Amino acid sequence: MDKTCSDCKHYRPAPTDCATVAEYGDCRAHPPTVIVIEDEPVSEFPAVNADEGCGEWEPKQ
Ligand code: SF4
Repeated sequence: MDKTCSDCKHYRPAPTDCATVAEYGDCRAHPPTVIVIEDEPVSEFPAVNADEGCGEWEPKQ
């Protein structure tokens, strides 16, 4: 197994239509971070590519 984000239990793929495979999504391993977009604070989970991975990878259950 490659241990990529797409196979990790913390990965949430971006919404897609039926003809599109999600190539990116969010990592939910940790709480979201507050960032400022157009002068408004919003909380966001880190965006990751499906084929990336990190040391906190865990298998889907
Ligand atoms: S960044 Fe790490 S913890 Fe987050 S989804 Fe990818 S492999 Fe999993």
